[in-house]
Amino acid sequence: MFTGIVQGVGFRPFIYRLAHRYSLSGFVQNRSDGVVVEVEGDAGDIEVFLEHVSQELPLVASVSGIRSEDLETTGDRGFRVITSEKTDAMEVHISPDIATCEKCLKELFDPEDRRFRYAFINCTNCGPRLTIIKDIPYDRENTSMECFPMCKECSREYSDPLDRRFHAEPNACPECGPQLWLLDSSGRKIDTPDPVERAVDLISEGYILAIKGLGGFHLSVDAGNDEAVKRLRDRKFREEKPLAVMVKDVTHARLVSEVGQVEERILRSPERPIVLLRKKNGILSPYIAPGMYTYGIMLPYTPLHHLLLEKRFNALVMTSANHKDEPICTGNREALDRLNGIADFFLVHNRDILVRCDDSIVFVPSSGMSLVRRSRGFSPRPIRISEPLPGVLALGGHMKTSVCVLKHDMAFLSPHVGDLETPLARDFLFKSISLMERITSTRPDCVASDLHPDYYSTRLAQKLGRRRVVQVQHHHAHIVSCMAENMVSGSVIGIAMDGTGYGTDGAVWGGEFLLCDEASFQRAGHIGYFVLPGGERAVKEPWRVALSLLREAFGRSWKEIATGLSLVEDSSLLPVLEAVIERRINSPQTSSLGRLFDGIAAIVGLRRKVSFEGQAAMELEALARLSEGIELGYGIVSQGDKLILDLLPTVREIAKGMLEGIPREFLARSFHETLISAFADMALSLAASTGLGRVVLSGGCFQNRILVEGLMDRLTGKGVDVFFHHLIPTNDGGISLGQAVCAGYRIKNKA
Ligand code: ZN
Ligand code: ZN
Ligand code: FE
Repeated sequence: MFTGIVQGVGFRPFIYRLAHRYSLSGFVQNRSDGVVVEVEGDAGDIEVFLEHVSQELPLVASVSGIRSEDLETTGDRGFRVITSEKTDAMEVHISPDIATCEKCLKELFDPEDRRFRYAFINCTNCGPRLTIIKDIPYDRENTSMECFPMCKECSREYSDPLDRRFHAEPNACPECGPQLWLLDSSGRKIDTPDPVERAVDLISEGYILAIKGLGGFHLSVDAGNDEAVKRLRDRKFREEKPLAVMVKDVTHARLVSEVGQVEERILRSPERPIVLLRKKNGILSPYIAPGMYTYGIMLPYTPLHHLLLEKRFNALVMTSANHKDEPICTGNREALDRLNGIADFFLVHNRDILVRCDDSIVFVPSSGMSLVRRSRGFSPRPIRISEPLPGVLALGGHMKTSVCVLKHDMAFLSPHVGDLETPLARDFLFKSISLMERITSTRPDCVASDLHPDYYSTRLAQKLGRRRVVQVQHHHAHIVSCMAENMVSGSVIGIAMDGTGYGTDGAVWGGEFLLCDEASFQRAGHIGYFVLPGGERAVKEPWRVALSLLREAFGRSWKEIATGLSLVEDSSLLPVLEAVIERRINSPQTSSLGRLFDGIAAIVGLRRKVSFEGQAAMELEALARLSEGIELGYGIVSQGDKLILDLLPTVREIAKGMLEGIPREFLARSFHETLISAFADMALSLAASTGLGRVVLSGGCFQNRILVEGLMDRLTGKGVDVFFHHLIPTNDGGISLGQAVCAGYRIKNKA
C-alpha cells in the first residue's frame, strides 16, 4: 500500500509498466486510503521492482508511506489495473494542479495531432487536479469532467496501461471534451471560428478580457499597452498594487527582469507560481508595478495560456478577476455578473472550476524559495511535521488567511482564502473548511483560532460546535509555523516581525522576540511601544504614524520637525493629532515593525498614504536598494523580565538627516542596516541568557529581502542556527499551520 500523492499523477500506469518489466503478476488499485499494489513473482524481481518504484517515481508524485505484507501466492497471470474502491481510512493526497507538460505541448502545436490547438489537452503528468474535484477518490466521475463522456479514441487511451493518458481523469479531445467560446460584456456569444485568435485580436486592440483559467478567472490586457493597463486599474479600483504578468518563456522573462538559476527553475516548475523578479527597464508599462523593484512574473501553465501567448505578445497582464477584497471568480455566470463594468469580453469554457485556487506567489531570498502566497500548484500538498498529533482544524487569522487540517503527521493547507472582509470571502472560508475536511476525510474535534476577539475567524471557531477551541497568539503561531515546516522541536528564540497581531496585553503586537516551543511562549522582548493614532486609519495613512514617532522621538520640538518634513498639509492638524495621541482616542499602543516601516517611509517623503497594506514598506525596500547605508543608533533596555528595543534614536537620526538634505536612499538603507544589527543584538543577548542556539524567523516583514538576508547572515556568522520559511508563507497565509501545530501539542501534552 502506497500513501502520499499517488493519485492523479500517473502512479498506476507507472506501476503497471514496472510490473511488466520485471514479469510480475498481480494488480494495482486506487483506494481512498492509498494505492494498493499486489505483485507475485520471483523474490529477487520483487525486490528490484520495489527499488525502482522509488527511483523512477513520476515527477509530481510523492510517496509518504509504504506498508507491505507477505501473501500466499495465487498463481495469477498478468498484471491488472482494477477499479477504485472507497474505504473509510483516507490517506490519499489529492494532487495539486500541474502545468502542461512538454509532451502535451508538442502535440498542442503539432498540426498532425488530433489535439492540435485544443485548449484542454492534458495527460497523467499534467493538467487540472484539485480544481476539478468534487469528491475522493480522484476518479473521473468525482470530477467536473464527469459530464464529458469520452469518445472512442479517448477511451482507448484512458484504458490502455501503456498509453501516457492511461487513467488521466481529465482526458479529453476536441471531439468529446470541453469547449471554449467568447462572450461580449452583456453575455452574448460572439460568432467566431476561433475564439482564441479573436481573443488575441481583442487584447491587441486594447480591450480588457476576462479569461477563465484553472482555478478562477484572470483579467488580461497587453502588458505593454499603457492605456489598457490604466483602464484596467481604474475599473478594478486597484490604484497601485502590482499586477501579475505572464510571459511566453524564460527568454521573455529575461527581457523584463533578472532571472537567476534558482528563479528559472521555479518559473519552469510544474507548480508554475508567480515569481517576484528584479525589474529591468524596458517593454512593460510603468503602470504594472509602480514603486516596486520587482515584477510578479509567471510562465503559461494551461494549454490556453500557451495559445494566447504563442505569437503576438511579449507579456500579458494576468491578474485575479475580482473586486477588491473579494475572492476570484470561478463560474461563467458569476464572472459576467461580478465583472460587469470591468471586462469588455469573456473567454469562457464549460469545464467547471469546482475549487477556487489563486496563482501562488514566490520570492527567492538567498536562503532559497519562499512563498508569499501558497495556492495553485502547491495546495493541497501536505507538509510533513515532526511527529503525529491529534487532529486539528485551524482557521488562520483575518488577512491573507488559509485553513489548515492537521492529521497524524501531515498538515494540509487550503488554497489561499484571502482577507475575511466581505461576505463572499467568509463564504469562501466555509467552503474551504468543508473542502479540506472532505479531501482529508476528517472532522477534527479541535478548532484552533487567533486570539483576537473581533476576528471573524475567532468567532467562527466558537460557533462551529466542535469539542474544543484552542486560541493561539498571532506571533506564536507565526513562529510555530516556521518551526513546523523546518521540523524544529523544543525551545527556540522566535523573532516575529509583522503588521498586526493581537497581544495578550491588548496592544497591537508586531515586533516580537519570543522564547517558545510549539505549545507555549514567553514574550522575552519587543520593539518599544508607540501610539497608533486613530488605529486602523493610521494603517492607511502612514503620516499619522510618522507624527506619533516624531512626538515620541523629539518631545517638545516635534511639531517643528514635522512641519520641516512637510508631513502635514495643514499645520492646524498638528494640535488635533497631538490631542488624539495624548488622550489615546481610539489609539492603541503598538510594537509593530510594519507600522514603523510605514512611519519611516512617510518621514523620508515616500508617501503619506498607502493604497494597499505593505506598500510603503515595499517602496522603502526598493529605495534602500539604491544605496549603501550605515548602522544608526538604537538602544536595548531591560524592563522587568523583558528586553525593550528602543528605535527612537534611529527615528531621530533619519528625521534630522532628511532636514539636513542627506539622500533619502542612504537613510532608507541605513534604517534596514540598523534593524539587522538591532534584531541580531536582541537575539544574541537572549541566546546568551538562555543558552538557546536556534533562532526562528517569521512574520510578513520578512518578505523584505534586505532584512531577512541581512539578519540570517549576521546570526549565522555568530554561530546561531537560523530557520526561515520555504514551504509556507512567512506572512499571515502561514498562520493556520502554526495554530494547528500549537493546538495539537497543547492537547497532546495534556493527554
Ligand atoms: Zn501532459
Ligand atoms: Zn475524445
Ligand atoms: Fe502576522
